[in-house]
Amino acid sequence: MRLGHRPTRDKRITTHVCLVARAFGASAVHIAGARDESLQLSITKVTETWGGPFSVEFIPNPIRFVKEWKSKGGQLAHLTMYGAQLRDALNHIEQERDLLIVVGGEKVPAFYYDAADINVAVGSQPHSEVAALALFLDRMTGGNWESKAFTDAKLKIIPSERGKTVKQLPFKKKDI
Ligand code: SAM
Repeated sequence: MRLGHRPTRDKRITTHVCLVARAFGASAVHIAGARDESLQLSITKVTETWGGPFSVEFIPNPIRFVKEWKSKGGQLAHLTMYGAQLRDALNHIEQERDLLIVVGGEKVPAFYYDAADINVAVGSQPHSEVAALALFLDRMTGGNWESKAFTDAKLKIIPSERGKTVKQLPFKKKDI
């Protein structure tokens, strides 16, 4: 969940939060703040081309969303430079429970610090929500995001040390 999105100032950084979330193993991003159709469209296009499943939705009431998430048994990790050290925090996360990772923008309301099962610092220095999310997902998945399979992709990159090798994948019935 990305808090406090402002289309004029945050478009690029929120887009990068979504791209990192998708690439490194999250199934969705819930954006709180001003609705931004162009951001949603650009991420939908990426998912249509490179595969999913992945969705982006805007949530009008993030506090209610968090309360409902927790009442359904989900856990919440809030990324903040003031939190517990990453290596210790990971031990508190239960792999079998749904996890909502919260990243902020401007000042994060106290509600999220209190509602979090764990406040996690990716180093105790200020940097960026994009970097914090990437490192957190890498550590949390033990690096397994690297072998994540994406479904319904149109294109797939074949890793190569030089050049660009991109494979066009066959159309599925639903594309017609
Ligand atoms: N004062 C903020 C904080 O509490 O981390 C830094 C603001 S930063 C511009 C925006 C977001 O980046 C924060 O809300 C947090 O989610 C993330 N962030 C920045 N540095 C971080 C760090 N060292 N550890 C975890 N998250 C961080």
